[in-house]
Order: sequence, then structure tokens, then C-alpha cells
Amino acid sequence: MPMLLLSRKSVPTPNDFTEVQHALHGREFRAEELPFPEKRLKEYVNAGYVSVRHGIIPLNENIFDLLTGKKKWLCVRCGNREQESFAVCSCARCGSKCVYCRHCLTMGIVRACTKLVTWCGPVPELRLPEDVLIGRPLCHWKGSLSSDQQKAAEALLQALEARESFLIWAVAGAGKTEIIYSALEQQLKKGHRVVLATPRTDVVRELLPRIRAAFPDIPVSGLYAGSKETIPDAPLVISTAHQLIRSANRFDCVFIDEVDAFPYHFDAMLDYAVRKAAKPNAPFIFLTATPPDILKNAYLSGKLRGVMLARRYHGYPLPVPRFQWIGNGAHAACKGWLPYPLSLWLRERITQKRQAFIFVPSIALVHELTELLQRSGYTRIAGVHADDPHRHEKLADFREGRLAALVTTTILERGVTVPGVEVAVFGADDRVFDDRALVQISGRVGRSGDCPRGDVVFFHNGKTLAMIRARRQIEQMNRAGGFK
Ligand SMILES: [Zn+2]
Ligand SMILES: [Zn+2]
Repeated sequence: MPMLLLSRKSVPTPNDFTEVQHALHGREFRAEELPFPEKRLKEYVNAGYVSVRHGIIPLNENIFDLLTGKKKWLCVRCGNREQESFAVCSCARCGSKCVYCRHCLTMGIVRACTKLVTWCGPVPELRLPEDVLIGRPLCHWKGSLSSDQQKAAEALLQALEARESFLIWAVAGAGKTEIIYSALEQQLKKGHRVVLATPRTDVVRELLPRIRAAFPDIPVSGLYAGSKETIPDAPLVISTAHQLIRSANRFDCVFIDEVDAFPYHFDAMLDYAVRKAAKPNAPFIFLTATPPDILKNAYLSGKLRGVMLARRYHGYPLPVPRFQWIGNGAHAACKGWLPYPLSLWLRERITQKRQAFIFVPSIALVHELTELLQRSGYTRIAGVHADDPHRHEKLADFREGRLAALVTTTILERGVTVPGVEVAVFGADDRVFDDRALVQISGRVGRSGDCPRGDVVFFHNGKTLAMIRARRQIEQMNRAGGFK
């Protein structure tokens, strides 16, 4: 056993060990951003506690690649394998032409000569605040679950006891977040590190205060671009999938909210980031109102454990969208002409003191329509889109009732709950509105028990298959929930 002797000899001193272990665990560093000199790592690498990998490695996907000798690349940090996203630079460090990844460039350059450092030794114990006694209840949420939610929560607990993955297929407004509270508590009590990943910054910002209120004694970290709410090695992390690119081998249990949401659904790299952040064999819990086919089929064929919740927690059916022809509304709006049906709809909402979301297919149209509405005498109207620096303030104004209507792109299609809101989709026949997006948008309406009904209208210039499918799915879920 010469290998074993060697590793025993090279095990580092205890003090140094704890420091390095805590500094490295769960994260992936580029060697140049390590919090201490790289040479201190040598004995840890020899002992097998630290792995060092090249940032970019050759990728030969098939025999043809080998035969032609054409080089393809894989970025080990972000999983990028789109060859257009690689470029070559003259590298000052290695002194040669060096391939680098453009996809994750905003997080610091990863070159072929970059070393990626991760901890793979013993997992450090969580450092919890002193007043947290693991025997005490951790969840302080005072609400109660409906019987459907209760059953789902119990099935989830059982699956996690068996370390198995689980699907929560729940209509918008079924109260998905409350269902997972007991599972979060169970995992935290076991001393596990847990992440709740979601595709969107808005959803992280919406979930963070709710989860913090439910688990007041537990440090909860919020990770999104520009976040100031990061807590190192927090046991509970709410993160955009994108921010997990810096994590590795960290979480014992991974919840993925809105698993089908753009861009998650389409972006293999975010999928890579989430899987890399998880420990091997960590169970995944998927939460969604509109599961992608691969999950739906796995669940229906019994390969994936899960539950389906077809009823909202307050017991009312989902609002069914109605279709209204409006002609080429986008064209009209760009010409400075406000389509009458939209104006009428908005005026009715204002008279009835109901707030409204108006979804539009493009950022340009957000600007055009917002300006046009303001010029036509509507006050308390604002427009938001993903690149809007004031989007969080505007959304806060809307939540607090200072705005009557918000013109928005699909960024607000999910995760955002405003009681009593009603919804119009302006240009619902546009390609950006696929059936999933339209189901999610319709799901914004009637979510609160005080206001369980409301209008959803798709203004269109010709019905699309997506519109028809979306309406059919909503009607099917209502039937599954026992409504006619
Ligand atoms: Zn990359
Ligand atoms: Zn280089």
C-alpha cells in the first residue's frame, strides 16, 4: 500500500487544514483568484483533497472529429461547447496562443492554461450561528397547508428520506413554495447544504424575503448578478442558475424552481452549472407549472417520483384566457395609434380599481406602448424589461399600488405575485409567446384567496397554435382539479 502511506505522510497540519478546507469547499476558483498562494495547495493536491483541472480541454465528440484533426473545445467552468464562443488570444502567462471562453468571460477569463481549483476532501461542518439549536423547529411559517399541499409535502419528505429526485407539478397559484418548507427544514436539520435555483433574478428577489421570514434563524444567501446579500457557506442558498457557475460539489440537495423557464430550458450551460454545484447523488426537486416533456414523461411512466397539484390552494379554478382580435396592434402602436379594444380594456380596469399587466413581445414595443398610453392621458403607467436599470423600483411601485398598469416583456411571466392583478397579452400571436409562456402569464391572475378570479385576454391578429394549446392546457388542469 505505498500510495496510502504517501497520502498519510502528506496530510497537512490541522490548523492550516481547516482554513484551506473552509476557504475552498463548495467553490471553484481560478488559481489566480485563490485567497492564498497557490504553492500552499501542493500537499492538499498530493493528499487527494484538492483537484486541479485545466479550464479548457479538447472535446472530441465523434470519430469524424478525430479523423479530421479539427480541434473542438469544452469550457470546464461553464460547460460551454459552442465553438463560436471560443476565441484565441496571445497569452502573457503561458507565452503562446491560448484559447479562452467568451461565454463566461464576465466572471473572469478562463483560458486553456487556467487552472481550476476545487475542494474534494472531507466536507467541513456547517458553521451555524450559536443560537441555532438543530433540535428546535427551524421553520417559523405560520400559515396552513391545504390538504393537497399537505399530501405533496409528505410525499416529498419521503422521497428525500430515500435520497430520490422528485417532481412537483403544480398549477400557478397552487402554493409550491409553502410545500417545500418542511423538506427544507428536514434537510437543514440533517446539516445539509441546500440550494433553491431559479432561472430569474426577479424570482430570487421575490423568494428571498419569504424564505428568510420562514427560516429566521438560518443564514440565507441570495445570489444574483449584483447581489449584496451573499453570505459565505450559508446552509440555504437562493440563486439564479447562472450564479452557480462558480460553485462546485457543494449542495446535498437541489431545488429547481420554474425548471422549464427560458433561458434554463434552452440553455445546456445552466444545466451544467446546476449539476456541477450539486454533490454526486444529490437529489433534485423540480417545481413547475408546465413541465418539459422529458420530466412529464419520466413522471407519468413512474421513473421519477412526484405529485401533481391541479387545484389552487384557495380552491378556485384557473382563469381561462379569452381571445380578442385586435389587428396588427404592434404596427398601429408604432404609428402612434392606440388600438381601441386595448384602451377600452385598460379604462375598465382603472374604473374597477384593478391593476393590470400588459405583456408585449419586444422591448421596443414596451417603449412605444408605454409612451403612447402616457400621451393618451393614462397616468400611473410604466414599462419594464430585462435591461431596464429601474425595473426593481418600478415593480415595487406596482406592488404598492402606486402604478395602475405595467407594460412588460415576458420577464414578469412567472414568479411574480400581485393580488388582484389582471392581464392582457398585446400581440399574443407573436412567436415569443409559446404555449408555456402563455400558461404562465395567465397564471398571474386570481392567485390570492381574496381575489380568486380575474380577466385574462389575448389580443391577437390571428389565433396561433400556442394560444389554443395554452387555453386547452388550462382547461385540462381545471378538469383534473374537479372543475367542469
Ligand atoms: Zn466558459
Ligand atoms: Zn495561456
